[in-house]
Amino acid sequence: MKEIYTLNDLKHWQEVTSGEPVPLKVAVIGDPVAHSLSPQIHNPALEELGIEARYCRIELKEGEVSVAFKLMQAAGFIGTNVTIPHKQAALEAVDFPDDHARLMQAVNTVVFEKEKSMGFTTDGPGFVRAIREEFSMDLKDLRVMVVGAGGGAGRSIAVQCAMEGCERLVLANRTIGKAQALANELRSRFHTDKLEGPVDRLVVAGGKNIRAEMENVDLIVNATSLGMKRTDPSPVPDAGLSPFHMVYDTVYANGSTRLIEEAKKAGALAANGLSMLLHQAVLSFEIWFGRKAPVETMRKGMRSPGDPIVE
Ligand code: NAP
Repeated sequence: MKEIYTLNDLKHWQEVTSGEPVPLKVAVIGDPVAHSLSPQIHNPALEELGIEARYCRIELKEGEVSVAFKLMQAAGFIGTNVTIPHKQAALEAVDFPDDHARLMQAVNTVVFEKEKSMGFTTDGPGFVRAIREEFSMDLKDLRVMVVGAGGGAGRSIAVQCAMEGCERLVLANRTIGKAQALANELRSRFHTDKLEGPVDRLVVAGGKNIRAEMENVDLIVNATSLGMKRTDPSPVPDAGLSPFHMVYDTVYANGSTRLIEEAKKAGALAANGLSMLLHQAVLSFEIWFGRKAPVETMRKGMRSPGDPIVE
């Protein structure tokens, strides 16, 4: 199997992959995809269950998603994952996006059938499972701050929090207008019979407000790209972190981040984004194959020796 395939490979899929012992029928598309851990999560699971399909990486450029889907469908792909920057393009390219994907404005899981393609999103539901696994808590019982609410991952997480009926939602973003726009979309979900507390249930925060709002949340989620480089600063002020906080950093590239380190120093519980990555993959697998995924095998694959993750 090649490390990375391209649109050109898809045009000649049978010849290009003719030497494969098991057909490549599931994939992740994105740009870049070289860093993607998805093959090492999915392939051990496919092997364990004796499924005659293997998972590969395909790098697609802007504008190539729609034609790639047609080629994948013709080549007999079962489905594909979609990562940065193609999740919105995938929403437009599939024949039938489900309601959840429409709400998230993103598709990260596609199912190909003979005559049609269907789009789903597993990022938000994967996040729900990750929070349960890491902190033994359900989102509905939590006051949540999403930092980076203007980005793709931040939107998925914030919308999921609103759908779960979380106690309180603080939307923080560097470009405040994007968080404001999302708050306007979600506002109706926060008009409920729940007793109004001393602070509003849906709030937009930026700059200095973030520190003050941290006092009124339980869970702080980093959905910005800060933390992907080891030298990146934390997305929230260190002094605002307290022992009562749970901190979830969706970034997982280096194992730990400045935010996670500062949270632990403050006595808070903290976890990186590996569990979200795992559970969105588990849910994609279950959509494609209609059976329970071997979660522990997938978790082990994610952490196989030699990968760049350091815990
Ligand atoms: P995106 O759509 O490009 O959004 C990036 C977000 O980061 C925006 O909110 C942006 O704010 C903010 N940002 C970027 N640079 C910043 C800075 N210097 N200071 C403050 N805010 C900054 O990217 P994405 O797809 O949502 O991905 C965001 C993060 O989520 C990435 O770190 C990725 O690793 C992680 N992620 C993890 C998983 C998982 O399974 N664990 C899944 C998906 C994504 P503006 O709106 O102001 O530009």
